[in-house]
Amino acid sequence: MQKKIIKMNPKKILLFSAIFLIIACSKKVAEVAPTPVAQPIVVEVEDTTPPKGVADYGQLSVSGNKILDKNGKPVQLRGMSLFWSQWIGKYYNEETVKWLKTDWKCNVIRAAMAVESGGYLTNKAAEKAKVYAVVDAAIKEGVYVIVDWHDHKGEDHLESAKEFFGELAKKYGDYPNLIYETYNEPLNVSWRNVLRPYHEAVIAEIRKYDSDNLVICGTRNWSQNVDDVIGYKLADKNTAYTLHYYAATHKQGLRDIAKRALDSDVPLFVTEYGTSEASGDGSLNSDEADKWWAFLDQYKISHCNWSIADKVELAAALRPNASTQGGWRLSDLTESGRMVRTEIRKKNVN
Ligand code: MG
Repeated sequence: MQKKIIKMNPKKILLFSAIFLIIACSKKVAEVAPTPVAQPIVVEVEDTTPPKGVADYGQLSVSGNKILDKNGKPVQLRGMSLFWSQWIGKYYNEETVKWLKTDWKCNVIRAAMAVESGGYLTNKAAEKAKVYAVVDAAIKEGVYVIVDWHDHKGEDHLESAKEFFGELAKKYGDYPNLIYETYNEPLNVSWRNVLRPYHEAVIAEIRKYDSDNLVICGTRNWSQNVDDVIGYKLADKNTAYTLHYYAATHKQGLRDIAKRALDSDVPLFVTEYGTSEASGDGSLNSDEADKWWAFLDQYKISHCNWSIADKVELAAALRPNASTQGGWRLSDLTESGRMVRTEIRKKNVN
């Protein structure tokens, strides 16, 4: 093969020299600062599927130990409770409800309206306005909304409770979205002599305006002794009973109590639970949280996690100063928040 003689003019030589220099320099830089090895980035695939909600399930009713949808099929709702309205009322708004539906896939939101300590008894208009904002948002978003009389001494505030729930039933009783929770967590008082008559009186007031929406009734010992109800259920047909647990404190013993109630056809609704200890803090217990979720799935028991709050405590789902308008990144969520969100997202769109 004949050798080719390449002739280059000085301009070209200059140009090639410059290119050579640039390459040599960039290699030098590369040696000094090697390109970092790409770290795997965890990117969640955006899931735009909405959770099944009021459009799918419609008017709820009770049969035996189950809550049924409009077609008579057992239904299990999963969602979040907001925190005491008078203390962390900043999340009682449409944007938060919307985000909990679209991102967390919640199909039920609980508004925990404080009664004492600066709540309804002393700031009626302000607390009602917060609750109504959440109910309006839930109706707009097509999710269920529990309005909770967040009280530990409901029997001392019966007339106020009747006034509040009567007004609420009149205003929203025609919407299938609304669920009444007449008394969050009674203390150690008698089911038969104190709590049952209390609920009876509040339900009578509700039923003046709304004949059918679900009512959930708190039980003795911070809504743990659901077995007290066995043989003493309320006469109202669309009534279920409140079971609360905190996974790092309440374990198989409380599941056994719940099982006894279920076996006697007492329908349960977990309007509040935590992954932490009962104090809302202390420690998290993800193994027990899983056991509880499996138990609730087995019996199709609906549940709301405590809580959407940015308080510095383990039970809070949000880190301090998380936006009041939703849009939270994973880094805005606490360990409990991420755990609960994963559980709800996994199960509410199927
Ligand atoms: Mg109704």
